[in-house]
Parts: sequence; C-alpha cells; structure tokens
Amino acid sequence: MKNEATLVIIKPDGLKKSLTGNILSRLSETKLKIIAARVLKVSEELASKHYSHLKDKPFFPELIKYITGQLHGENRVMALIYWGKDAIGKVRQIAGATNPEEADPVSVRGAYGRILTSGLYENVIHASSDPAEAEREIKLWFEPEEIVYELYPSEEREIKGTKKRAWK
Ligand code: UDP
Ligand code: MG
Repeated sequence: MKNEATLVIIKPDGLKKSLTGNILSRLSETKLKIIAARVLKVSEELASKHYSHLKDKPFFPELIKYITGQLHGENRVMALIYWGKDAIGKVRQIAGATNPEEADPVSVRGAYGRILTSGLYENVIHASSDPAEAEREIKLWFEPEEIVYELYPSEEREIKGTKKRAWK
C-alpha cells in the first residue's frame, strides 16, 4: 500500500458542537501526517464545485446550505489534508458510513451525526472516498503553497506582477 493524501473537512455542525479537538484526536489514531490545514468560510461556488457530483439529487440545495453554514449560523469549516499509507481508507473508517444511523456507533458520524427532519444527513465530517476524488478536492480547497509536501505538479504564474504557484 503506497502513501496517499486525503481531504478531511470538519463541517459547520462539527465546529458548532465544539467537536474539533475530539475529531482531530480520533484521526490521530491513524498515525497519518497532517500536511495542510485551514479554517475558512465556504462560498456557494466552492460548495457547488465540491459537491458537483450530487447536483441532480433532491437534497442538493440543502446540502449547499449545510456546508456553507446557513443551517447552523456557523460559516466556518476546518479543512485538512492527511497523508500516509492507506490514508483514504483509514480516515473513512474513522468517519463512518454516510448515513449516521447506519454508521458504526464509535465512528465520528455514528457518535455525533444525525438525520434532519428534511432527510439530510448532518454527519459532521467529510472524507475523500478515492484517490481521484482526493486529488480533485485537494486542488479545490488548497493552493500548492499551503501544503507542506509537493503532492501534485504545480507551476509558477505571474498574476498582476506577483509570482504565485498554481496547480498545473
Ligand atoms: N447526503 C445526504 N443524503 C444522502 C446522501 C448524501 O444528506 O442520501 C449528504 C451527506 O451530508 C454526505 C454528503 O451529502 O456526507 C455527500 O454525499 P456522498 O454520497 O459523497 O457521501 P460521503 O462521501 O460524504 O460519505
Ligand atoms: Mg463523497
């Protein structure tokens, strides 16, 4: 099994419920390395790109409200990249199944997630599900210079006289 990267997002309910430390402790059981982290507010544009594969689902508009913080009056999320052997599988294991009612009770989603009356799964954490998705998501949420390792090829670009690295 080779080293790989995965994107984790602690969603607005996770921040609102003060679960950040708890979730990071659970993830540290994996012995994976954190190679990037940021706290940010999620724009509608970033949210729609992140969940573009779900845009035809009936719950999509509410999912966008959820990840942009409109359901919780809490527009912060914490995004992190974990790196190491089987990172995607290890983090998904700790996150638990998508549906919090079906998730292992000791997983993050099993312990802290819930299903809203609308049917939306409010499940505390996002974790990439395969290497292609991880790469697409990491490039969406992070600039090359925000990541400690050179995960993917990048190039220097000059924007308004300032040099900056961008994904190729
Ligand atoms: N989701 C939902 N209902 C569903 C499927 C997904 O509310 O039937 C939400 C849930 O918050 C989930 C997110 O949409 O985490 C992204 O869905 P995906 O199928 O990618 O699940 P994940 O990869 O997050 O386990
Ligand atoms: Mg997914």
